[in-house]
Amino acid sequence: SAVRENLSYERFGTAVRQLAQRIADDGYEPDIVLSIARGGVFVAGGLAYALDCKNIHLVNVEFYTGVGTTMEMPVMLAPVPNAIDFSDKKVLIADDVADTGKTLKLVRDFCLDTVAEVRSAVIYEKSHSLVKCEYVWKRTEDWINFPWSVEPPVVRRSGQVLDA
Ligand code: 5GP
Repeated sequence: SAVRENLSYERFGTAVRQLAQRIADDGYEPDIVLSIARGGVFVAGGLAYALDCKNIHLVNVEFYTGVGTTMEMPVMLAPVPNAIDFSDKKVLIADDVADTGKTLKLVRDFCLDTVAEVRSAVIYEKSHSLVKCEYVWKRTEDWINFPWSVEPPVVRRSGQVLDA
């Protein structure tokens, strides 16, 4: 749809604290926050501080090529984390949004064999997601503009002399 949900950095700050509060209230104390890069890195950082968890891991997953357009399946990019690092640990997977849920399913399945427990936390979840996350800040059906990706990458301004 053409409707957009716009998340500002300020509201993201509120969202991540409220999401963490729900996780704490639920009594889940993760040993590791596993972020799905790149969007999940922001969420994982906020959650790890708010939950006083000092161990953050990262997995790179590529899926989307544009607004609402994807490759056939998400893929983990190298370097893939060593599953041994997660053995017998309570893991919290963090991402910005569960849309189709395929990305979260990929990462969750990757963890399932080795970890003591795995749960997922996202800022947004769409109703058609095939993974239902344990912790969701807000449900929406709209395309979300995140503050970190709403603008294009910066480009070098030619002819600019950079002072020290
Ligand atoms: P899924 O595998 O659940 O379809 O998609 C997960 C990833 O796709 C998210 O981590 C995010 O990077 C991207 N994505 C999915 N839906 C949206 C959206 O509505 N807005 C933005 N900006 N990215 C999205």
